[in-house]
Amino acid sequence: MDQSSSQPVSEAAAGALLTIDLGAIRENYRRLKAQLGGVRCAGVVKADGYGLGAGQVATALMAEGCDTFFVAHLTEGALLRQALGSAVTIYVLNGIPPGAEAEAVEAGLVAVINSAGQLAAWRAAAERSGRTLIAAIQVDSGMSRLGMAAVEVEAVTADPRAFDGIDVALVMSHLAGADEPGHPANEQQRLEFERLRRMLPKAPASLANSSGISLGHPFCYDLARPGAALYGINPTPGKPNPMLPAVRLEAKVIQTRMLKAGAGVGYGHAFHAPAPLAAATISLGYADGWHRRASAAAFFDGVRLPFLGRVSMDSIILDISALPPDRLKAGDLVELIGPSQTVDQAAGHAGTIGYEILTSLGHRFHRRYVGG
Ligand SMILES: *Cc1c(COP(=O)(O)O)cnc(C)c1O
Repeated sequence: MDQSSSQPVSEAAAGALLTIDLGAIRENYRRLKAQLGGVRCAGVVKADGYGLGAGQVATALMAEGCDTFFVAHLTEGALLRQALGSAVTIYVLNGIPPGAEAEAVEAGLVAVINSAGQLAAWRAAAERSGRTLIAAIQVDSGMSRLGMAAVEVEAVTADPRAFDGIDVALVMSHLAGADEPGHPANEQQRLEFERLRRMLPKAPASLANSSGISLGHPFCYDLARPGAALYGINPTPGKPNPMLPAVRLEAKVIQTRMLKAGAGVGYGHAFHAPAPLAAATISLGYADGWHRRASAAAFFDGVRLPFLGRVSMDSIILDISALPPDRLKAGDLVELIGPSQTVDQAAGHAGTIGYEILTSLGHRFHRRYVGG
C-alpha cells in the first residue's frame, strides 16, 4: 500500500500503533546472506515493502550493502528511485505496461521482460532513447504466471535482432512451491529454468524467493530475491522460524464495560454474555486490515483476550475477564501482532498467509520505525 498519499498520524491521535523494526529487517538480511554464502541477495520491496514502507525498508537494507531491489509496479519503482537515489538497481517484476516505457526509462528502472511483446516494446524504447537499456528476462519455468513460455523463448532467440539495444543483466524465474521443500515442481522448475536460460543471452541467473533459499544452493544461482523472510514471515512453514519478527501492532482501548448476563455483543448479537463479563472495545477493525472473519484474540501483558462477536469496521470487542478488575483502562495498548501473536499466527486465524496480513495493514496507524 502506498503510504505516500496518506497523512502521518500522531501517536496521541492514532487508534493503533504499528512498530516496524528496521534493525530486525537488517538482521534478517544478514541471516539470509550468511545462508547464501557468496550468492548476492536483493531485497523485494513490492507493495510498499509488504506494507511496511518501501523507502524505509530499502534504505535500511542499503546500509547492509543491498544494491538491488524488486518492485511489482512501475510507480512503486519511480517512488523508490526518488527515495534511494541513482546508485541502486530497481527491477519492475510485472514489466512495463504498454505505452509507459518512456516513464520507466526516465525513472531509471529495469524492466523485467515477461513476454515477446514486452521485449519488442523495450527494444523500441531503447531505439527511441538512443541508449542501450538494461533488462531482466523472466522465463516461465512452470508456474504459468509471468515470464516467457518455452515457445516464446525459442521464437525470440531465433530472431538475431531480438536483443538489439538491450543489455540482459539477469535471467530469472519464480518458483510455485518453494515453501514446500518436497514439492515435485521445485526440481522440475529448476531443470526447465536451466534449459531455458541456456537459450538466452548469457547473464546472471535468479530463481529463489525467501523459501527458495532454503531449498539449497542449486536453487540460489547468482542472485536471491527474498521478500517475506526479511519482514519476519517464516520461510520454512512447519519448522521453527529462523527469522526475527519485524512488526508489532497494538490497538488502543477506547472504553471498558461490564456486560450483564445475557447481553448481546456487537453486530447481529453474534455473541451473548453467558454470565457477567468484563469487556473492552479497541480502536481497530477491518478497515485497518484486520480480517473480519479472523476470530482471534488480543493480548495484554501476555494474557489472552478473546474477541467477542463480530469484528466491526473500526472496533473490536474483547473479553478481558482474564485480567484483574480495572487493570485495563482507556488508552492502554493491547497487542494484535507481536511477541504473543506472530504475523504467521494472526494469518492462521484469518485463514490466510502472513503476506496478506502485512500488505493489508491500513493507513490509520501511527507508524513508528525503530532500529534504523
Ligand atoms: C514476491 C516475489 C518475490 C519475493 O517472494 P517472497 O516469497 O516474499 O520471498 C520474489 N520473486 C518474485 C518474482 C516475486 O513476485
